[in-house]
Amino acid sequence: MLIDTHCHLDFSAFDPDRGQVIRRALEAGINYFINIGATLESSAASYELAQKHPEIYATVGLHPHDADTFDSSSADKLRQMASGKKVVAIGETGLDYYRNLSGKENQKQAFLKQIALAKELNLPVVVHCRQAEEETLQILKAALPLQAVVHCFSGDESFLQECLGCGFFISFTCNITYPARVSNSRRDPASGNKMVQRDKKASTLRDMVKLTPLDKLMLETDAPYLSPEGFRGKRNEPLQIKLLAEEVSRIKGVSFEEIADRTTQNAKEFFNLKE
Ligand SMILES: [Zn+2]
Repeated sequence: MLIDTHCHLDFSAFDPDRGQVIRRALEAGINYFINIGATLESSAASYELAQKHPEIYATVGLHPHDADTFDSSSADKLRQMASGKKVVAIGETGLDYYRNLSGKENQKQAFLKQIALAKELNLPVVVHCRQAEEETLQILKAALPLQAVVHCFSGDESFLQECLGCGFFISFTCNITYPARVSNSRRDPASGNKMVQRDKKASTLRDMVKLTPLDKLMLETDAPYLSPEGFRGKRNEPLQIKLLAEEVSRIKGVSFEEIADRTTQNAKEFFNLKE
């Protein structure tokens, strides 16, 4: 059994065949889906999906990309939705200084208010962090004790150790399956020969998987985004979490079954899933 701890099945990319996507995953042994709210609208859609499908749970929150739309009524609306059945976390929320689609100050304010809401409701937080590690940590540390998962982990070892030190869970996506790209576009100035350079990003992510203890690791597709190697450029779907679990089992040198069991146990504990 596997759990996709972060997907966006409410997105329009799944409008034509949402039911089939869910069925395909269920038939392949993916038993639960955590559908993540990214805006107020998608949080409402996420909530609706959870009411309709026994295997779907919802989170409600506002992505840092949309933090500019977070106003004085947003926290109340999220609070109202969060009190409904099968809402298991607040998020995704956090800081994204890579794309900066919303102002930094607004991102921080929306993040702080959603953390406060999570603490008030005794719910965990799904954190999105991209190129904002220092400020994300500052905010999270000031909110301790706090239950949080750093989703689609993309940081370095020092960020990883800090997060683990706070007791947070770390969630990896299918981008860990990307090979370390080799580029030979640069030439050695002395010999004129092409120089082979490895793109460190994918191999570094695999190192982070290696360093994350099995009792703190969760798996997610972030579907429809981030399809695994072999499917890049295509829509991702929860079924693909099997490929991710296979890659994690290779990296960690433990069986697929153990990865499936441990990550499922972690997700059930973190999201407090009740069967
Ligand atoms: Zn997401």
